[in-house]
Amino acid sequence: MLRRIILKNFRIVDADTDFFGSLIIENNVIKKIVADTENIPDADITIDGSVFDSSTVLMPAFVDLHAHFRDPGFPEKETLESASLAAVAGGFTTVVCMANTNPVTDTIEKARVLKARSDALGFIDLYPVLSLTKNMEGRELSGIKDLPAAEVLMLSEDGKDVANDNLFLAAMGEAKRLGIPVSCHCDFGGTEADAAKKAGRPRAEWSRIEENNAVRRAIELGKKTGCHIHIAHVSTKEAAEIIREAKKNSVSDNGFFLTCEATPHHIGATEEDARRMGDESFGRVNPPLRSEADRQAIIAAINDGTIDAIATDHAPHSEADKAAGSPGFSGLETAFAVCLSHLTHEMTPNQELQRLSALMSKNPARIIGLRDRGGITAGLRADLVIVDTQARQKVNPAQLKSRGKCSPFAGKELRGKILMTLNAGKIVYMGETSA
Ligand SMILES: [Zn+2]
Repeated sequence: MLRRIILKNFRIVDADTDFFGSLIIENNVIKKIVADTENIPDADITIDGSVFDSSTVLMPAFVDLHAHFRDPGFPEKETLESASLAAVAGGFTTVVCMANTNPVTDTIEKARVLKARSDALGFIDLYPVLSLTKNMEGRELSGIKDLPAAEVLMLSEDGKDVANDNLFLAAMGEAKRLGIPVSCHCDFGGTEADAAKKAGRPRAEWSRIEENNAVRRAIELGKKTGCHIHIAHVSTKEAAEIIREAKKNSVSDNGFFLTCEATPHHIGATEEDARRMGDESFGRVNPPLRSEADRQAIIAAINDGTIDAIATDHAPHSEADKAAGSPGFSGLETAFAVCLSHLTHEMTPNQELQRLSALMSKNPARIIGLRDRGGITAGLRADLVIVDTQARQKVNPAQLKSRGKCSPFAGKELRGKILMTLNAGKIVYMGETSA
Protein backbone atom coordinates (compact mmCIF):
# COMPACT_ATOMS: atom_id res chain seq x y z
CA MET A 1 0.00 0.00 0.00
CA LEU A 2 1.30 3.41 -0.94
CA ARG A 3 2.16 5.61 2.00
CA ARG A 4 2.64 9.26 1.15
CA ILE A 5 4.11 12.02 3.31
CA ILE A 6 4.35 15.62 2.20
CA LEU A 7 6.77 18.14 3.65
CA LYS A 8 5.76 21.48 2.20
CA ASN A 9 6.93 25.09 2.38
CA PHE A 10 10.39 24.38 3.70
CA ARG A 11 13.77 25.91 3.22
CA ILE A 12 15.58 22.80 2.00
CA VAL A 13 19.36 22.58 2.39
CA ASP A 14 21.82 19.82 1.60
CA ALA A 15 25.51 19.87 0.65
CA ASP A 16 24.71 20.98 -2.89
CA THR A 17 21.48 22.95 -2.78
CA ASP A 18 19.58 25.58 -0.81
CA PHE A 19 16.05 26.45 -1.94
CA PHE A 20 12.42 26.77 -0.87
CA GLY A 21 10.14 23.95 -1.84
CA SER A 22 8.23 20.82 -0.94
CA LEU A 23 9.04 17.12 -0.84
CA ILE A 24 6.72 14.32 -1.80
CA ILE A 25 7.76 11.12 -0.05
CA GLU A 26 6.30 7.82 -1.11
CA ASN A 27 6.94 4.79 1.03
CA ASN A 28 10.51 5.32 2.14
CA VAL A 29 11.99 7.45 -0.62
CA ILE A 30 11.90 11.04 -1.84
CA LYS A 31 9.68 10.71 -4.87
CA LYS A 32 9.58 14.27 -6.07
CA ILE A 33 10.71 17.77 -5.20
CA VAL A 34 8.46 20.63 -6.20
CA ALA A 35 9.07 24.36 -6.05
CA ASP A 36 5.46 25.45 -5.56
CA THR A 37 2.67 24.19 -3.35
CA GLU A 38 0.18 23.76 -6.16
CA ASN A 39 -0.35 20.32 -7.63
CA ILE A 40 0.61 18.67 -4.38
CA PRO A 41 -1.31 15.42 -4.04
CA ASP A 42 -3.16 14.24 -0.94
CA ALA A 43 -1.04 12.55 1.65
CA ASP A 44 -1.29 10.40 4.75
CA ILE A 45 0.68 13.03 6.64
CA THR A 46 1.41 16.62 5.64
CA ILE A 47 3.93 18.69 7.54
CA ASP A 48 3.76 22.39 6.74
CA GLY A 49 7.03 24.27 7.23
CA SER A 50 5.21 27.59 7.42
CA VAL A 51 3.98 26.78 10.93
CA PHE A 52 7.56 26.76 12.21
CA ASP A 53 9.84 29.74 12.83
CA SER A 54 11.54 31.21 9.77
CA SER A 55 14.87 29.81 10.97
CA THR A 56 13.58 26.27 10.40
CA VAL A 57 15.35 24.20 7.74
CA LEU A 58 14.80 20.75 6.27
CA MET A 59 18.06 18.83 5.81
CA PRO A 60 19.17 15.28 5.11
CA ALA A 61 19.42 13.32 8.37
CA PHE A 62 22.93 12.90 9.75
CA VAL A 63 25.24 9.92 9.32
CA ASP A 64 27.53 9.02 12.23
CA LEU A 65 30.66 7.04 11.39
CA HIS A 66 31.64 6.44 14.97
CA ALA A 67 29.49 5.61 17.98
CA HIS A 68 29.68 3.20 20.88
CA PHE A 69 26.30 1.69 21.62
CA ARG A 70 27.62 -0.56 24.45
CA ASP A 71 25.20 -3.28 23.42
CA PRO A 72 25.56 -6.18 24.04
CA GLY A 73 27.22 -6.17 27.40
CA PHE A 74 27.04 -2.79 29.16
CA PRO A 75 23.42 -1.86 29.93
CA GLU A 76 24.58 0.37 32.81
CA LYS A 77 26.21 2.59 30.15
CA GLU A 78 23.79 2.31 27.22
CA THR A 79 21.51 -0.07 25.32
CA LEU A 80 20.60 -0.32 21.67
CA GLU A 81 17.26 1.22 22.59
CA SER A 82 18.60 4.21 24.53
CA ALA A 83 21.35 4.84 21.97
CA SER A 84 18.86 4.74 19.09
CA LEU A 85 16.61 7.25 20.86
CA ALA A 86 19.64 9.46 21.44
CA ALA A 87 20.60 9.15 17.77
CA VAL A 88 17.25 10.27 16.38
CA ALA A 89 16.99 13.04 19.00
CA GLY A 90 20.29 14.25 17.54
CA GLY A 91 19.06 14.00 13.94
CA PHE A 92 21.04 10.84 13.09
CA THR A 93 19.37 7.98 11.21
CA THR A 94 22.47 6.12 10.01
CA VAL A 95 24.98 5.06 12.64
CA VAL A 96 28.13 2.99 12.45
CA CYS A 97 28.74 1.44 15.84
CA MET A 98 32.04 0.18 17.12
CA ALA A 99 32.80 -3.41 17.99
CA ASN A 100 34.07 -3.05 21.57
CA THR A 101 30.97 -4.66 23.01
CA ASN A 102 30.84 -7.75 25.23
CA PRO A 103 31.17 -10.09 23.46
CA VAL A 104 33.24 -8.22 20.88
CA THR A 105 31.50 -7.93 17.51
CA ASP A 106 34.05 -10.03 15.63
CA THR A 107 31.89 -12.22 13.39
CA ILE A 108 29.26 -11.49 10.78
CA GLU A 109 26.77 -13.53 12.83
CA LYS A 110 27.11 -11.19 15.82
CA ALA A 111 26.82 -8.15 13.55
CA ARG A 112 23.66 -9.59 11.97
CA VAL A 113 22.00 -10.14 15.35
CA LEU A 114 22.61 -6.52 16.34
CA LYS A 115 21.48 -5.20 12.97
CA ALA A 116 18.29 -7.31 13.12
CA ARG A 117 17.48 -6.02 16.61
CA SER A 118 17.97 -2.47 15.37
CA ASP A 119 15.82 -3.03 12.29
CA ALA A 120 13.07 -4.41 14.54
CA LEU A 121 13.20 -1.21 16.61
CA GLY A 122 13.03 0.81 13.39
CA PHE A 123 14.57 4.05 14.67
CA ILE A 124 17.79 4.06 12.69
CA ASP A 125 19.76 2.20 10.04
CA LEU A 126 22.56 0.62 12.06
CA TYR A 127 25.86 -0.66 10.67
CA PRO A 128 27.93 -2.64 13.15
CA VAL A 129 31.68 -2.49 12.66
CA LEU A 130 33.58 -5.76 12.74
CA SER A 131 36.78 -5.86 14.80
CA LEU A 132 40.00 -6.67 12.96
CA THR A 133 41.10 -9.42 15.32
CA LYS A 134 39.32 -12.11 17.24
CA ASN A 135 38.01 -10.74 20.54
CA MET A 136 40.19 -7.66 19.86
CA GLU A 137 43.14 -9.55 21.26
CA GLY A 138 45.51 -8.66 18.44
CA ARG A 139 46.50 -12.30 17.90
CA GLU A 140 44.54 -13.58 14.89
CA LEU A 141 42.16 -12.11 12.35
CA SER A 142 38.47 -11.95 13.28
CA GLY A 143 35.65 -13.19 11.07
CA ILE A 144 36.68 -10.61 8.45
CA LYS A 145 38.53 -13.40 6.63
CA ASP A 146 35.39 -14.91 5.17
CA LEU A 147 33.20 -11.84 5.35
CA PRO A 148 30.84 -11.51 2.39
CA ALA A 149 30.97 -8.19 0.53
CA ALA A 150 28.52 -5.34 1.13
CA GLU A 151 27.21 -6.46 4.51
CA VAL A 152 29.64 -4.67 6.77
CA LEU A 153 30.62 -1.12 5.80
CA MET A 154 33.59 -0.48 8.06
CA LEU A 155 36.22 -2.39 10.02
CA SER A 156 37.99 -1.20 13.15
CA GLU A 157 39.92 -2.41 16.15
CA ASP A 158 38.57 0.63 17.97
CA GLY A 159 40.95 2.24 20.48
CA LYS A 160 43.54 -0.47 20.00
CA ASP A 161 44.54 -0.58 16.34
CA VAL A 162 46.77 -3.66 15.93
CA ALA A 163 50.27 -3.72 17.42
CA ASN A 164 51.64 -6.34 15.04
CA ASP A 165 52.36 -4.76 11.65
CA ASN A 166 51.85 -7.96 9.66
CA LEU A 167 48.51 -8.68 11.29
CA PHE A 168 47.41 -5.07 10.76
CA LEU A 169 48.45 -5.37 7.09
CA ALA A 170 46.52 -8.63 6.73
CA ALA A 171 43.41 -6.97 8.14
CA MET A 172 43.86 -4.05 5.76
CA GLY A 173 44.15 -6.58 2.93
CA GLU A 174 40.71 -7.93 3.84
CA ALA A 175 39.34 -4.37 3.89
CA LYS A 176 40.79 -3.86 0.40
CA ARG A 177 39.18 -7.08 -0.81
CA LEU A 178 35.84 -5.89 0.56
CA GLY A 179 36.30 -2.32 -0.66
CA ILE A 180 35.55 -0.85 2.78
CA PRO A 181 37.51 1.48 5.06
CA VAL A 182 39.50 0.58 8.15
CA SER A 183 38.77 3.14 10.85
CA CYS A 184 42.05 3.69 12.69
CA HIS A 185 41.60 5.18 16.13
CA CYS A 186 45.28 5.94 16.49
CA ASP A 187 45.58 5.72 20.22
CA PHE A 188 47.84 2.69 20.21
CA GLY A 189 51.07 3.38 22.12
CA GLY A 190 54.16 2.71 20.05
CA THR A 191 57.65 2.81 21.58
CA GLU A 192 58.10 6.58 21.73
CA ALA A 193 54.75 7.13 23.44
CA ASP A 194 55.37 4.21 25.79
CA ALA A 195 58.74 5.68 26.79
CA ALA A 196 57.14 9.05 27.53
CA LYS A 197 54.48 7.27 29.56
CA LYS A 198 57.10 5.35 31.53
CA ALA A 199 59.06 8.53 32.15
CA GLY A 200 55.98 9.90 33.88
CA ARG A 201 55.25 12.57 31.28
CA PRO A 202 51.70 13.98 31.48
CA ARG A 203 48.95 12.34 29.46
CA ALA A 204 48.60 15.46 27.29
CA GLU A 205 52.16 14.90 26.13
CA TRP A 206 52.36 11.13 25.53
CA SER A 207 48.89 10.91 24.05
CA ARG A 208 49.92 13.53 21.48
CA ILE A 209 52.99 11.48 20.52
CA GLU A 210 50.74 8.43 20.41
CA GLU A 211 48.20 10.01 18.07
CA ASN A 212 50.75 11.61 15.76
CA ASN A 213 52.83 8.44 15.40
CA ALA A 214 49.80 6.18 15.06
CA VAL A 215 48.39 8.40 12.30
CA ARG A 216 51.72 8.19 10.42
CA ARG A 217 51.78 4.41 10.87
CA ALA A 218 48.19 3.89 9.72
CA ILE A 219 48.86 5.93 6.57
CA GLU A 220 52.10 4.08 5.88
CA LEU A 221 50.52 0.64 6.25
CA GLY A 222 47.47 1.76 4.28
CA LYS A 223 49.69 2.90 1.43
CA LYS A 224 51.46 -0.44 1.45
CA THR A 225 48.15 -2.28 1.27
CA GLY A 226 46.38 0.09 -1.09
CA CYS A 227 43.23 0.23 1.01
CA HIS A 228 40.93 2.93 2.35
CA ILE A 229 42.18 4.26 5.69
CA HIS A 230 39.80 6.37 7.71
CA ILE A 231 41.43 8.19 10.61
CA ALA A 232 39.07 8.51 13.57
CA HIS A 233 38.79 11.56 15.84
CA VAL A 234 41.73 13.69 14.65
CA SER A 235 42.60 15.95 17.58
CA THR A 236 46.14 17.35 17.29
CA LYS A 237 47.40 20.08 14.99
CA GLU A 238 50.27 17.80 13.93
CA ALA A 239 47.93 14.92 12.99
CA ALA A 240 45.82 17.32 10.92
CA GLU A 241 48.97 18.46 9.12
CA ILE A 242 50.20 14.88 8.53
CA ILE A 243 46.84 14.02 6.96
CA ARG A 244 46.79 17.23 4.91
CA GLU A 245 50.21 16.35 3.44
CA ALA A 246 49.33 12.68 2.93
CA LYS A 247 46.20 13.64 1.01
CA LYS A 248 48.27 15.88 -1.25
CA ASN A 249 50.82 13.20 -1.98
CA SER A 250 48.62 10.16 -2.03
CA VAL A 251 49.26 8.03 -5.08
CA SER A 252 46.05 6.20 -5.70
CA ASP A 253 47.40 3.68 -8.24
CA ASN A 254 47.11 0.83 -5.78
CA GLY A 255 43.80 1.95 -4.29
CA PHE A 256 45.11 3.81 -1.26
CA PHE A 257 42.51 6.30 -0.13
CA LEU A 258 42.56 8.49 2.95
CA THR A 259 39.66 10.08 4.81
CA CYS A 260 39.24 11.31 8.36
CA GLU A 261 36.80 12.62 10.91
CA ALA A 262 36.76 15.05 13.84
CA THR A 263 34.42 14.98 16.82
CA PRO A 264 32.17 17.79 18.05
CA HIS A 265 33.93 17.77 21.42
CA HIS A 266 37.32 18.43 19.85
CA ILE A 267 35.71 21.27 17.90
CA GLY A 268 33.87 22.85 20.81
CA ALA A 269 35.87 22.03 23.95
CA THR A 270 39.47 22.15 25.16
CA GLU A 271 41.73 20.92 27.95
CA GLU A 272 40.31 23.75 30.06
CA ASP A 273 36.96 21.96 30.00
CA ALA A 274 38.62 18.65 30.88
CA ARG A 275 40.35 20.30 33.83
CA ARG A 276 37.09 21.82 35.04
CA MET A 277 35.35 18.44 34.78
CA GLY A 278 38.25 16.43 36.17
CA ASP A 279 41.15 15.38 33.92
CA GLU A 280 41.14 11.80 35.09
CA SER A 281 37.41 11.40 35.66
CA PHE A 282 34.50 13.20 34.01
CA GLY A 283 36.73 15.13 31.62
CA ARG A 284 38.51 12.01 30.34
CA VAL A 285 38.17 11.12 26.65
CA ASN A 286 40.37 9.43 24.04
CA PRO A 287 42.03 11.33 22.48
CA PRO A 288 42.01 13.94 25.26
CA LEU A 289 40.53 17.38 24.84
CA ARG A 290 43.49 19.39 23.56
CA SER A 291 44.74 22.96 23.60
CA GLU A 292 43.00 25.94 22.02
CA ALA A 293 45.69 25.89 19.29
CA ASP A 294 44.77 22.30 18.46
CA ARG A 295 41.06 23.14 18.45
CA GLN A 296 41.70 25.99 16.02
CA ALA A 297 43.84 23.70 13.84
CA ILE A 298 41.04 21.13 13.68
CA ILE A 299 38.56 23.82 12.64
CA ALA A 300 41.04 25.06 9.99
CA ALA A 301 41.43 21.48 8.72
CA ILE A 302 37.66 21.20 8.46
CA ASN A 303 37.48 24.48 6.58
CA ASP A 304 40.16 23.52 4.03
CA GLY A 305 38.66 20.08 3.43
CA THR A 306 41.41 18.05 5.13
CA ILE A 307 38.83 16.70 7.56
CA ASP A 308 35.99 15.05 5.66
CA ALA A 309 33.36 14.35 8.26
CA ILE A 310 32.04 14.99 11.74
CA ALA A 311 31.64 11.82 13.81
CA THR A 312 30.37 11.86 17.37
CA ASP A 313 32.46 9.14 19.04
CA HIS A 314 29.39 8.87 21.27
CA ALA A 315 30.88 6.94 24.19
CA PRO A 316 28.42 6.82 27.09
CA HIS A 317 29.32 5.60 30.57
CA SER A 318 27.60 5.29 33.91
CA GLU A 319 28.31 8.01 36.47
CA ALA A 320 30.41 5.58 38.51
CA ASP A 321 32.49 4.58 35.48
CA LYS A 322 33.13 8.24 34.61
CA ALA A 323 34.12 9.00 38.20
CA ALA A 324 36.60 6.12 37.93
CA GLY A 325 38.10 7.55 34.74
CA SER A 326 36.41 5.72 31.85
CA PRO A 327 37.08 7.78 28.71
CA GLY A 328 34.28 9.21 26.58
CA PHE A 329 31.28 11.52 26.37
CA SER A 330 27.73 11.20 25.17
CA GLY A 331 27.68 13.09 21.90
CA LEU A 332 24.82 12.12 19.61
CA GLU A 333 22.29 14.60 20.94
CA THR A 334 24.51 17.68 21.02
CA ALA A 335 26.55 17.13 17.82
CA PHE A 336 24.56 19.35 15.48
CA ALA A 337 24.26 22.25 17.92
CA VAL A 338 27.94 22.06 18.87
CA CYS A 339 28.97 22.16 15.21
CA LEU A 340 26.55 24.94 14.36
CA SER A 341 27.73 26.94 17.37
CA HIS A 342 31.46 26.45 16.86
CA LEU A 343 32.14 25.81 13.19
CA THR A 344 30.26 28.45 11.33
CA HIS A 345 31.52 31.82 12.56
CA GLU A 346 33.41 32.69 9.41
CA MET A 347 30.74 31.47 7.05
CA THR A 348 27.75 33.27 5.67
CA PRO A 349 24.39 31.87 6.80
CA ASN A 350 24.02 30.32 3.36
CA GLN A 351 27.37 28.59 3.40
CA GLU A 352 27.18 27.31 6.94
CA LEU A 353 24.38 24.84 6.56
CA GLN A 354 25.59 23.46 3.25
CA ARG A 355 29.04 22.89 4.73
CA LEU A 356 27.58 21.25 7.81
CA SER A 357 25.39 19.06 5.63
CA ALA A 358 28.44 17.88 3.71
CA LEU A 359 30.29 17.13 6.96
CA MET A 360 27.42 15.42 8.74
CA SER A 361 25.50 13.72 5.91
CA LYS A 362 26.96 13.57 2.42
CA ASN A 363 30.63 12.93 3.19
CA PRO A 364 30.14 10.32 5.92
CA ALA A 365 27.63 8.48 3.69
CA ARG A 366 30.19 8.45 0.86
CA ILE A 367 32.97 7.25 3.16
CA ILE A 368 31.02 4.07 3.91
CA GLY A 369 29.84 3.75 0.33
CA LEU A 370 26.17 4.61 0.86
CA ARG A 371 24.91 6.44 -2.21
CA ASP A 372 21.21 6.25 -1.38
CA ARG A 373 21.34 8.93 1.32
CA GLY A 374 23.16 12.02 2.52
CA GLY A 375 21.31 14.49 0.32
CA ILE A 376 17.86 15.64 -0.74
CA THR A 377 17.25 14.46 -4.29
CA ALA A 378 14.47 12.45 -5.88
CA GLY A 379 15.18 8.74 -5.50
CA LEU A 380 17.14 8.98 -2.24
CA ARG A 381 15.99 7.49 1.06
CA ALA A 382 13.75 9.90 2.94
CA ASP A 383 16.18 10.26 5.84
CA LEU A 384 15.45 13.80 6.92
CA VAL A 385 15.81 16.18 9.81
CA ILE A 386 13.99 19.41 10.55
CA VAL A 387 16.20 21.82 12.48
CA ASP A 388 15.80 25.26 13.97
CA THR A 389 19.08 27.02 13.22
CA GLN A 390 18.53 29.94 15.60
CA ALA A 391 16.92 28.31 18.65
CA ARG A 392 19.26 28.48 21.61
CA GLN A 393 19.17 26.10 24.51
CA LYS A 394 21.26 25.06 27.46
CA VAL A 395 22.49 21.49 27.43
CA ASN A 396 20.80 19.68 30.29
CA PRO A 397 22.33 16.23 30.82
CA ALA A 398 19.25 15.05 32.73
CA GLN A 399 17.24 15.44 29.54
CA LEU A 400 19.53 13.29 27.37
CA LYS A 401 17.96 10.10 26.02
CA SER A 402 21.35 8.45 26.30
CA ARG A 403 22.00 6.63 29.55
CA GLY A 404 25.41 8.31 29.63
CA LYS A 405 24.95 11.83 30.97
CA CYS A 406 28.49 13.12 30.71
CA SER A 407 29.04 15.98 28.28
CA PRO A 408 31.63 18.77 28.20
CA PHE A 409 28.78 20.99 27.00
CA ALA A 410 26.59 20.47 30.07
CA GLY A 411 25.19 23.81 31.16
CA LYS A 412 26.44 25.58 28.03
CA GLU A 413 24.12 27.41 25.71
CA LEU A 414 24.25 26.18 22.12
CA ARG A 415 22.56 27.31 18.94
CA GLY A 416 20.58 24.81 16.89
CA LYS A 417 17.82 22.42 17.79
CA ILE A 418 16.46 19.22 16.28
CA LEU A 419 12.69 19.50 15.80
CA MET A 420 11.90 16.31 13.91
CA THR A 421 13.70 13.31 12.45
CA LEU A 422 12.48 10.96 9.74
CA ASN A 423 14.05 7.58 9.03
CA ALA A 424 13.13 6.24 5.59
CA GLY A 425 9.97 8.35 5.53
CA LYS A 426 8.89 7.46 9.06
CA ILE A 427 8.77 10.06 11.83
CA VAL A 428 11.09 8.67 14.51
CA TYR A 429 11.60 11.77 16.64
CA MET A 430 9.56 14.84 17.46
CA GLY A 431 10.96 17.46 19.82
CA GLU A 432 8.73 19.85 21.64
CA THR A 433 8.37 23.05 19.63
CA SER A 434 8.13 26.54 20.98
CA ALA A 435 5.12 27.20 18.72
ZN1 LIG B 1 35.58 5.50 19.72
